[in-house]
Amino acid sequence: MTQLRWGQATDTGQVRSINQDSMHADAPLFVVADGMGGHRGGEVASAVAIETLLGSLAEPSTAALVESVQIANGTVFQRAQDDAELRGMGTTLCAVALVSDEAGERLGLVNVGDSRVYLLRGGALSQLTEDHSLVESLVRQGRITEDEALVHPQRNILTRALGISASVDVDAWEMPAVTGDRYLLCSDGLFNEVEPPVIEATLRKLADPSEAAHELVRLANEGGGRDNITAVVLDVVEGAGAAATATRMTAAAEPDLGSLGAPADTAPQPVVALPPTPAAEAEAAAATGVADVATDVGGLAGGDPPPVASPSSAEPERKRRRVTWRVLVFLVVLVSLVGGVGWLVSSYASGSYFVAFDGDEVVIEQGRPGGFLFWEPSIEQRTGTVRDELRPVAVERVEAESSQGSLGEAEDLVQNLERTSSKPGA
Ligand code: MG
Repeated sequence: MTQLRWGQATDTGQVRSINQDSMHADAPLFVVADGMGGHRGGEVASAVAIETLLGSLAEPSTAALVESVQIANGTVFQRAQDDAELRGMGTTLCAVALVSDEAGERLGLVNVGDSRVYLLRGGALSQLTEDHSLVESLVRQGRITEDEALVHPQRNILTRALGISASVDVDAWEMPAVTGDRYLLCSDGLFNEVEPPVIEATLRKLADPSEAAHELVRLANEGGGRDNITAVVLDVVEGAGAAATATRMTAAAEPDLGSLGAPADTAPQPVVALPPTPAAEAEAAAATGVADVATDVGGLAGGDPPPVASPSSAEPERKRRRVTWRVLVFLVVLVSLVGGVGWLVSSYASGSYFVAFDGDEVVIEQGRPGGFLFWEPSIEQRTGTVRDELRPVAVERVEAESSQGSLGEAEDLVQNLERTSSKPGA
């Protein structure tokens, strides 16, 4: 049985007057949602999303978790449609849930928006989720650098959020439940104020998950507290899983920012094919500019990019798998090329014949006169005709060792030479 321990903390921060973040931390489900939208919109969106998620999660599976996130999306979307004051509200949502089936217990992860799930494993922090933000997409496509992303005028625009359109694509992964793994779910108010190395050090230093969560929130406030801050720290106290790569369950498409985004190799093959939710992405990208008004004040301003902190754990493992795949393709191409070239050389080297002397005997050899690369000619036929039986002109002809296109041509040549020689019967 997997045993979990957790702690959580949230705070309005130093600038905002209300806390639009919501969270839930109780086994088997851990959620952080960062609401956005004017008036009470953001608050309502994040709270309704978590409430709906909790109420609709029918079974402990990642597929059910994804489905519940989609139901939550529909509920927030409908509320926003029905209430003029809430129109345009939306929320991010990331969640970790203990899931199980006959294969055993695992952790299911889902994400929509730019709240994050980090993993601390072996003392090293890695970011498991990908932000669904405009600048993150542009960086991934190589259109802007990470430095440019920091000052990008649209750095607070999300490309995916709950409640913006009738359907939403949900990123999902599964992780083995590994004893000693520590998960951090947090809103951008944390990682925009606290650098990943500091997050990592704090998570390593404080064994108690509640203390760690409170300390992270305190550090974010100390760093400026320009946004609402939420942290949920989840420890796998006892787990049956062996350390392994995260399995991404849905390879959700990138937003409508061009076909260069999301190359296939950034999305590991899904182990469970979940029905796609087409059109959600484009609509979300178009609409979230409206939904994200609440983060204008200070959401990302002054924050540092939160790159993966250290080269280990799940994210690097994903990269390693990508590298392995590329290496494999490279090797296959290389072997094919070498094989192809080898075949050509072999065909060229062995595809012709010539007449020569072996000692004093006239023979037909297969190959190129003098050999070609590492293909040496070999005697194909002995004729029994010796040098002394040939006229000088024939000897010269044999010594010239000229290539013949086929064995037949070589045999014709030998016959011609013998006809002009003194060989009996010629
Ligand atoms: Mg926020």
